[in-house]
Parts: sequence; C-alpha cells; structure tokens
Amino acid sequence: MILYLVELAVAIIAIIVSLIVLRKKETKKFITAFIIILALLVVSEGVTFALEKPVIEIKKENTTVEAKVDNHLKIAKTTYHFQDITGEVEIEGKVDYNQIGSYEISYKIPTLFGVYKETEVINVVDTTPPEINLEGGEEYNQSYSKEYQEPGYSAIDVYDENLTEKVQVEKNQISDTEMELKYTVSDNSGNTATKTRKVHIVDDIAPNITLNGSETMTLIIGNKYEEKGAKAVDEKDGDLTDKIQKEGSVDTSKEGNYEITYKVSDSKGNEATKKRKIIVLKEEIKARTGTDGQPGVIYLTFDDGPSSSITPKILDILKQKNVKATFFILNYNAQGEALVKREIAEGHTVGIHGFSHDYNTIYQSVDTYMSNITKLQEKIKASTGYNATITRFPGGSSNTVSRYNPGIMTILCKEVVNRGYRYFDWNVSSGDAGDVSTSQGVYNNVTKGLSKSRSNVVLMHDFSGNTKTLNALSSIIDYGIQNGYTFSNITTNTPMVTHKPNN
Ligand code: ZN
Repeated sequence: MILYLVELAVAIIAIIVSLIVLRKKETKKFITAFIIILALLVVSEGVTFALEKPVIEIKKENTTVEAKVDNHLKIAKTTYHFQDITGEVEIEGKVDYNQIGSYEISYKIPTLFGVYKETEVINVVDTTPPEINLEGGEEYNQSYSKEYQEPGYSAIDVYDENLTEKVQVEKNQISDTEMELKYTVSDNSGNTATKTRKVHIVDDIAPNITLNGSETMTLIIGNKYEEKGAKAVDEKDGDLTDKIQKEGSVDTSKEGNYEITYKVSDSKGNEATKKRKIIVLKEEIKARTGTDGQPGVIYLTFDDGPSSSITPKILDILKQKNVKATFFILNYNAQGEALVKREIAEGHTVGIHGFSHDYNTIYQSVDTYMSNITKLQEKIKASTGYNATITRFPGGSSNTVSRYNPGIMTILCKEVVNRGYRYFDWNVSSGDAGDVSTSQGVYNNVTKGLSKSRSNVVLMHDFSGNTKTLNALSSIIDYGIQNGYTFSNITTNTPMVTHKPNN
C-alpha cells in the first residue's frame, strides 16, 4: 500500500481543493471537478502500472546452485516508483538442495490492482567432479620380477557418492622402467575426474649365489681346506662372481664348526649372502672290518636308485663283467619296480636306503627313521617277494646332517641292529655325489681307496644323470680284476662295515 502514498496525497489535495470549491457553493462544479480528478488519478495509476513494473533484482548466483550447498534465496533489491520495497516481497516455493532439479520460485508484490508476481527457475546442479583416491600413491615402485598388481583406488562424488566401480583404468608402458596408469571417472552430471599413477619398475631382486662344492663340508683335523669359491649371477647385472666378498676362515688344526660367508651386491644395492659350513672333526672315519671279513673283496654299492637312465646300463655292465653288486634303493614307481625285479633276478642285493631321503624328516626320531625303512621294506616285499634286511643310512651313520636331533645316530646304529637289520657304510668313496664331476675323478677315487688288506665297500650312486659313475664302472671293475681283487654283493653274512657315529 505504501506504493500509492503519492497518488493518495494527490487525491487528498484534490478533495481539499474540491471542499474549497464546495464552500463557495458551487456544488455542480465541485462534483464535476472531483469526478474528473478521481478518474484522472485512476487512469494515471492504471497507465503507470501498465507501463512500469516493479524491479526485482535477484542475486544472479541464485539461479544455478550447487547441489548439497544450502544457498538461501536472497533478493538484492526491489524498487517501484523509485521506492525500495524489498521488504514487501513475498517468496513462494522451495528449493531442495539435496536433489538435482529445477525449482520454480515466485516473488509476489501486492498492489492496489492485484498481486504482482514474477517467477524464476532455480536449477540445482552438480558441478563438482568426483574425487579419486589412489592407494599406494601417485608414485609407485614395482618389482620387475612380478606382474603389476593394482594397489587399489576409490572414487567418491558429493552427489553420486561411491563411483569406484565406474573408474576406468588405462595402462601405458612408457619405458622399460616406467608405466603410467590413468584413472578416469565421471559422475552422473558429467563431471569428470582424472588421476595418474606413475609406476616405477625397480630392481629389488638380489643376485643368486651358488657355492662351488657342497654347503656343508666335513674335514678331518690336519687336512687342508680347499676354498672352492662361489658363483654369483644377477638377473639384471649378469655375472657378479668377481664381486663376491668372502668372510670367515677355517682352522683345520682345531676341531669345530666354521663358517665362510659369501656376499655380493648388485648395482642397485640388493645384497645376497650364502654360507658354507665346514665341520672339522677330530678323528678319521675308519672302517671296522669284521673278523670273518674277506680281505681283497670289493663290494660295489649303488645308492639313491633306481633310475631309468642309469640303473639299466649299470646292470648291463655288471652282467657283462659277471660282477654282483648291492643297490641301496629309495622309493620307486612302476618303471623302477621292473628295475628292482631285474636287480634281484640278476643276483644282486637290494638294500634299503629309505622310502624318503629327506634328512630333516627321517632323523626326527627313532620312530620316523624306522617307519621310513619298514615302509620301503614292505613295498619291496609286496611287489617282488624279496625280503630286504640290509640297510644304509642316508648320509651314512657318521652323518652330521642329523645333528638337529642330537644323539639320534648313536641310538639308531644300535636300534637298527637290535631290530634285525644290518647296516653298511663304506670305506671307499667315489665322491660321485659330492665334488667329483668326471669319470676320471670317480675312477681315481675308487682305485686309490681300494686296499687288499680289508674288504672294500665302495660308495657309488645310480641316481638319474650320474653318467660319470656309469662311464667309470667298466674301468673300475677291470682295475679290480687286474689287481687281484674279487667282487661280491653284500649278504646277511657279510661283516658290517660301519663308520663311527658323529651324532
Ligand atoms: Zn643317499
């Protein structure tokens, strides 16, 4: 109503003027003048209203608002007839800022001629892109030895919430040492976010050290320790043998356990270490020959068979030379069974080495050891009818590999005999399971170890691939025959040839 004060003032002035006129008793003129003024006022007001609308200044940012952001509607200013009527404006309609959409809002101004109304549309939109979070960071180190494994990611949007499943990953191999992963996701309003992860492919693999010779060596006091060295190979740097550093020493004049450490690092600083254990023993392992031993007899023994590549050829040579031998066998398959049967059929002795050769399990207790030999004994019996009672301890009765169970060998050496078996070590070692790599080496070790003054139990192996022994066998037999030895297989009547237990 404030709007029309001017018009009302004009009307009041008109009425006062009219009353003055009326006082002069000019009634007719007064009525006429009054009607005319009134009519003019109404017409002028109508014309004004038709021509001049109220001006509602709405804050411009109101028309497009961000979802989830409460943006109260505000009117800057409304004027009409040069008057500020902002306080007179009524707002109708509601905006839900949590719901994307278009909302109609009305601004109402009451006038003498009805309600003036203006409407506008408020659009609630989402213009914020989702946020991508990379587990493991934007710089990531990956070992070259493994396939890339995505460390994980997630994408959260203000409005659409979890968009992780919609993330698209693009993988680009940039170089041998660098890879780039691009993660992209768009929300339902088309706002796109991108993040990049740089994957550095690094060398974190240490070189591989291989010892020349065995990891555990046994020496007798006074014998020379021969350093055989080691080899080192790195997948990236190649041969690093020259860079191996050695620590530790062996005093062969003193009984004890010694350790030599071999160390090498690759160009990336990855270090590898390997140790060799050297056991210096007080006493030499000596064979004890039974009173009824036959001096000058050679008992050839073959351990760790049967193998399809070596055993048949050894049997062929033995047959050709008419020599009987002893096979200390391990568990065998169907092919091996035929070989065990052939060994028996051709007059050799089949001895029990063990169902398993695994030092770490078989020497855990008397029971584990005994069941390891009875299991194989029963299998031989079942498949061939042969009763095997001659045994050989894996590693020999003087082994030190069983020292994780102190004293077990001393107990087993008695226990095995008490249970009706006879066990045999050796007094001539071919070295074919150790450091010897040539047939000449096998031949030399065996022929030098033979002695006419005792019975000779020769340790050899017929495991797969042992061609050096296979190729030396004929010459060894020839040497024995030429030098007046006789060959025999071990039987239950053969005096035991045993070592002194070291554990
Ligand atoms: Zn063996």
